Amino acid sequence: MGFDPEQYGDVHRLLLQSLSSRRMVTQPECQHLLAECILYDLQQTPARTPAASPVAIDVRRRDVAQTIATLNRALKPLGLAVAQAMQPDDGTRCYRLVDTEPDAWSAKATTLAPTAVAPVGALVQALAKAPRHGLSHAEAVAVPGVDGALLEQLIADGWLDRDDRSAYVLSMPAVLELQRMLADEYGACFKDCWSCQTLVVRDGWCCATCAQQFHRFCWRRYPQTTGLDPVLSEGPGAVCPACMDHASASATAIVEDNDY
Ligand SMILES: [Zn+2]
Ligand SMILES: [Zn+2]
Repeated sequence: MGFDPEQYGDVHRLLLQSLSSRRMVTQPECQHLLAECILYDLQQTPARTPAASPVAIDVRRRDVAQTIATLNRALKPLGLAVAQAMQPDDGTRCYRLVDTEPDAWSAKATTLAPTAVAPVGALVQALAKAPRHGLSHAEAVAVPGVDGALLEQLIADGWLDRDDRSAYVLSMPAVLELQRMLADEYGACFKDCWSCQTLVVRDGWCCATCAQQFHRFCWRRYPQTTGLDPVLSEGPGAVCPACMDHASASATAIVEDNDY
């Protein structure tokens, strides 16, 4: 298609513009955006015959990965990066342009008064240290400076979600924005997924034998990628792909979430 993902150029710049104006893009959205950028770039070059639509541009997942890697090399000196994380429920990869400077997130993470920055920081700390990285309403408002209005504002601004237990958890854009800081400051509370090497912030599995962590989706998917018997991936007799331990014959050997 005449586009080299590994050579920084106009297409990378166009994709960066697209990412900077969006809270978050999923892998399929990013593939479509990249196709649009390639098409737009082609149309600026009269000598070439442009394709009819972005759909006609064949962009693979690997093209997105290579383009993002090239972008990140260019962005590094600027203190910016395209962060990626996996949605725990369906394994969809998500991207977001983030600031890599320490503490830069706190200004972005709240549109409230400057006095809200410290309570939001304390709330993130409490979330990092909480079992399963979620807080009930009572636990959340027990954090100094946090009240119901602040929680509602953070939900409205898309920094917090309620999970299926109604606990407050970080939203995916917040995970993308904060994962580097969380890993640096609360590394003992978080680990990378053994399978995909991105941080497990919400809804993980932990092997009781080797303590490796997995996104829920990665844990369910690993039989397909390793050729192991799918029957063994869950429940009694489960095999951990990291340590190959049969995790005893007990379903409880694989403990749910980060509750360990
Ligand atoms: Zn994973
Ligand atoms: Zn293990």
